[in-house]
Amino acid sequence: MSQLNCGGCDRPAMLLIKALQHDVLEGLARDQPVALLMSWICERAESLAPDVVCSILSIDPAGRLRPLVAPSLPEEFSLALDGLAIGPTVGSCGTAAFLGEPVEVTDIATDPLWSDFKMLALPLGLRACWSTPIHASDGRVVGTFAFYYRSCRGPSELDRTIVQGCVNLCAIALDQRDRKDRIQRLAYYDVLTGVANRASFERFTREAIATAMKENACLAIHWIDLDNFKNINDTLGHNAGDALLKTVTQRISATLKPGEFLARVGGDEFAVVQPSAGSHGEIQDLACVLAAAVSQPVDIDGTVAAVSASIGIARAPQDGSDLALLMKKADLALYETKSHGRRNFSFYNKGIEERIASQWTLEQALKTALARKEFELHFQPVVDLATVAITGFEALLRWRRPGHGLLTPYAFLPAAEKDELLICDIGDWVLREACTCAASLPGELRIAVNLSPNQLRKPGFALDVVSALAASGLSPQRLELEITESALLLENAVTLNCLSDIRQLGVSIALDDFGTGFSALSHLRAFPVDRIKIDRSFVMEVDESHATASIIRAIIGLARELGVKTTAEGVETETQLRVLADFGCDEIQGFYVSRPKPLSAFDDYLRRGDSRRRLSAAS
Ligand code: C2E
Ligand code: MG
Ligand code: MG
Repeated sequence: MSQLNCGGCDRPAMLLIKALQHDVLEGLARDQPVALLMSWICERAESLAPDVVCSILSIDPAGRLRPLVAPSLPEEFSLALDGLAIGPTVGSCGTAAFLGEPVEVTDIATDPLWSDFKMLALPLGLRACWSTPIHASDGRVVGTFAFYYRSCRGPSELDRTIVQGCVNLCAIALDQRDRKDRIQRLAYYDVLTGVANRASFERFTREAIATAMKENACLAIHWIDLDNFKNINDTLGHNAGDALLKTVTQRISATLKPGEFLARVGGDEFAVVQPSAGSHGEIQDLACVLAAAVSQPVDIDGTVAAVSASIGIARAPQDGSDLALLMKKADLALYETKSHGRRNFSFYNKGIEERIASQWTLEQALKTALARKEFELHFQPVVDLATVAITGFEALLRWRRPGHGLLTPYAFLPAAEKDELLICDIGDWVLREACTCAASLPGELRIAVNLSPNQLRKPGFALDVVSALAASGLSPQRLELEITESALLLENAVTLNCLSDIRQLGVSIALDDFGTGFSALSHLRAFPVDRIKIDRSFVMEVDESHATASIIRAIIGLARELGVKTTAEGVETETQLRVLADFGCDEIQGFYVSRPKPLSAFDDYLRRGDSRRRLSAAS
């Protein structure tokens, strides 16, 4: 605080100003509201200089006047000033704020600075106005301190002393208010998107739930999670991710009705509270609107990113009236949406919890299964129809899960596929184990290993194959990798390059479950494969449905023309076998020959000489 210099003013006035400074500083230390401190300043200034009307305005970040206190002026006067943009001819205060210097107008009636505003001041008997800007510590003008006079005059020596002391106090008080505002914003608003943050979401929703309970109304929480946001962040960068979040925020905000509340509650998670949700249909309508609003492509600096959202909904009082519980339930419903392929919404229901609990336990158990050596491979022989001899085996994964017996892949692979790292680790184990087992088999026998699409997407997967072959000593010609059509559906460069690297090693590629995917034949054009495995769903009807038989015959004929081998999967009867042999199918696999079994089950058969390895011996 600068030292007061009171030239000719009297000592009692000085003491009163000092007392005011002391009181205001103490008020600030006690965290009194800024408006209250400002009123003290005005009232004390007016009592020191009785012919003066005092007013304090603040200047908002947009450069507009915001009246703070003017105890002796009518409210209409302040209201008329509220929101005026500062400028070179905006009365005494607007001009002082604009110039950053005090402005003395000794005759409001004639001074051009007041020409647009004199009709506000003159009827109140205000004839002159002296306004002093209030500067923040960084030099910005954050307010004005004005003395109005009822006669045409300028400030007296005493007035100047009072204002000198008060302006500094005002600067400190406004600084404190701004600091508090900033802290408040940081505490309750999301810096990136400007919408409420998780803390304000919780504060708002807790109160909204209490109100809904009192009024017997229904409240809904829509928990929104962007699908694949991580991919966008990873591929286009964090700035792109930030831009996307801002766009999504604007889109959601634009769909909301008055009373509905949006918050960003996590990295790519938003929550919308529907305080008077009404019927189930109304909640569903809002969820649809939210999903549609988010699921529009976003243009980020010329790159168009596809965006979609998954939504989980919990309702009060139906699902509970405790905020933490409702948030948990909305999150569970969201998880349910995600596990059903995303881009949708789900309402919480009890069944979800049970499904998720067992799914979660399954996923946790899967994560430790490799380390605990709970996986094993079973092998199903593949038989050549021309020679009726086993030409190789398909390695099929099994999980000996403690307390659950021996599980087939259908029971656990979908869960493993959700975790790219996990499925790749499991796949790597299968590949190595299968190669090692195959290396112990007689030289001409092949081993087929199933691949997950995730493995093919993994950069450097071809090197994993090289490493598994090297570690086991298996020759590449004896390894066949089975891919499903969904892997080829991606048809992206990484997958196709990876497949072609693998083929160049001498490893062959089989297209598994042929016929179950989409536009199956076009895949053969996109990537050449060595073998087609006709799916069991066709094979099981080959001797019953004329149409199915025709399709299989066509597939076999086409494959032959393309120089691709065919294997029929899931052959269970001799009739099926005969029809397939008639059609010219190369190989078969199925329970008719043998169920998948541990390799040791084939020991007897494998011990025999090559010439005696015949189909009948294997089953
Ligand atoms: P797939 O590759 O089509 O394997 C053939 C499946 O059909 C095997 O089921 C096999 O037990 C079953 N099967 C074979 N012959 C017959 C038959 O005559 N009748 C009937 N009803 N079924 C027969 P499994 O072992 O349960 O494997 C299911 C699927 O799991 C496999 O289908 C494959 O897509 C996947 N899979 C298996 N092991 C692995 C693996 O190590 N990695 C990956 N990524 N997927 C695997
Ligand atoms: Mg297979
Ligand atoms: Mg198959």
